[in-house]
Amino acid sequence: MPMELRRCLLAPPSEVWTAAENLRHAVHLHNEGDRSGAAVLFRAADLARIGDWFKKVVGPFDESIHGPRPTFLEPPKLPMHQRKRPRMVSAAGKRAIIARDGYHCRFCEMPVIPKDTVKAIALLYPEDAPWTDVAADQHRFFQAANLQYDHLLPHSRGGESSVENMVVTCAVCNYGRMSNTLAESFLLDPRDFPSRTSSWDGLQLIVL
Ligand SMILES: [Zn+2]
Repeated sequence: MPMELRRCLLAPPSEVWTAAENLRHAVHLHNEGDRSGAAVLFRAADLARIGDWFKKVVGPFDESIHGPRPTFLEPPKLPMHQRKRPRMVSAAGKRAIIARDGYHCRFCEMPVIPKDTVKAIALLYPEDAPWTDVAADQHRFFQAANLQYDHLLPHSRGGESSVENMVVTCAVCNYGRMSNTLAESFLLDPRDFPSRTSSWDGLQLIVL
């Protein structure tokens, strides 16, 4: 039976929502000067179930998650010199994408956090919200929630780095899709659905 089109490769565990609430509260306590209270809540959001979800989707190919392998690539994978430039959207383009999409993944709706914020929090709370280049040592919510500007038509397949072709996603949905098109991943086009709106602000209120 052919695979049905879906909104995302694998829905996040429900724990992401309680973890996001803990993080929001952690930022509130931090801003009030309660560092030890904030530390406890940063730690509480570092959940094994979120790490397991990341590993399943980003890990080795699994047909039940990634869909059957395409038999041929259309459009084809382009050699480097034929790919559109620039590789990444401009700073103004990123601001426009955030203004449109907010701080939620356009595929799975996971609350996301900009990388600069993840790194700043890790500097303040290295034990409780760790961020290093080693995936196994990263805080598991931050790892999954690391905000991505994702090309819907992949850059390697001729996609432009434009506001129209790019959306906010979580790291799980971006890395999990690799350089496959939406059709090859059996994904619905997220532009056909409204962005999730909520008061989640990607922890932008933290006082650094
Ligand atoms: Zn996602």
